Amino acid sequence: MRKVIIDTDTAGDDTIALLTALHHFKVEGVTITGGNVDFNQEVENALYTIQVASPKEYVPVYKGYEVPMTITGNEHHQTVEDVHGSDGMGDAFFEKATQRPEAGHAIDFIIEKVKANPGEIALLAIAPLTNIAMAIKKDPTIIADIPHIYIMGGTNNSLGNITPAAEYNFYVDPEAARIVLHSGIPITMVGWDMCTKYSIMDEEDHQDIEKLATAGSDFFIKINKVVLKFNKEVHRLNGTTHPDTLLVAIAANESLMNALNHYYVDIETRGELTRGYNMVDINNRTGKIPNVRVCEVVDREGFKEVLLDVLRAIE
Ligand code: CA
Repeated sequence: MRKVIIDTDTAGDDTIALLTALHHFKVEGVTITGGNVDFNQEVENALYTIQVASPKEYVPVYKGYEVPMTITGNEHHQTVEDVHGSDGMGDAFFEKATQRPEAGHAIDFIIEKVKANPGEIALLAIAPLTNIAMAIKKDPTIIADIPHIYIMGGTNNSLGNITPAAEYNFYVDPEAARIVLHSGIPITMVGWDMCTKYSIMDEEDHQDIEKLATAGSDFFIKINKVVLKFNKEVHRLNGTTHPDTLLVAIAANESLMNALNHYYVDIETRGELTRGYNMVDINNRTGKIPNVRVCEVVDREGFKEVLLDVLRAIE
C-alpha cells in the first residue's frame, strides 16, 4: 500500500475523504490545519472519523497551525459553520472518540516521517496549506523527499466558493499556497470547478448510498445533512459536494482523471477583490515553466463507484 499523510481541516467532506484515504492508502498520520470550523472541533471530527473506519493499524492525529501564516494577535480567519453545521458534522453532535491527539506538532511529525521515508510519502492536502508550507519553511530539505502533493484547492479559471474569485482553501492562506505551489514538489491540483462538475451527489445518488445500509453509508448521510441545504440555497447546486473525497479518490486512482495538463499556476496574495484567486496560465502567456498538473475532466461514474466502495466496506 502507498504511504500518505493527510492534512485536513476536518469537517463535512473531509471526513469522507479521510475514510477514502484509510481505505486506499497506508495513512501514516493525520495532521490538522485551521480552516472549516473551530480548531479543536476539527481535531475531534478527525478522531471520530478514524473511529468510524476502525483501521487495523493505529493512525495518529497531530494538531498543526490553528490560523493562517500571516495572522497575528487575536485575529481569526473565516470559518464556515454555515456550510458544514456548527460541529462541522452536519449538526450530528457525535460522542467524543476514545483516541486522543498526539503531543507533538503536526509539522514536526510531517518532517520526521518524510525524512525517515524519503521519496515514499505523498501528501494529500485537503485544507488551507498552512501546515505544509510551514513544514517546508522549517526544513526545506523535505522538498526533495516528498514524491507528490495532491491538492484540493483553487479553481481553473472558474467561479470561487468563498468569494467569486477564490476557492476556500487558497483564500484562507494564500501565502502558504504560494510557498507550496512554488516549492518544486510535483503537484496535482483538483480545483473547486472539478468538484462542482463531477463530484455532486444528487438525491438519487443519496438513495443509492442509503441503500448500502452500512455504518459507512449511515455516517455519510448524517454528515451531509446541512451541506445539502446550503448548496441549494447559496451555490444553486442540487446535491452534496465532495471536493476532498474527489481529491483522495484521484490520488488513489489517477485513471479517474480523463483530462489533465501541466500549467503555470500562481496565486494572488494582495488584490482588492481577488485575494486568494489562483491564476492557471492555460495559454502560457507568462512564458513560465509549468509547476502544476491540473485535473480538467473527471470520470464521474468512476468516482461514484469509489465512493460507494468505501462506504460499503465500513460495516
Ligand atoms: Ca477540507
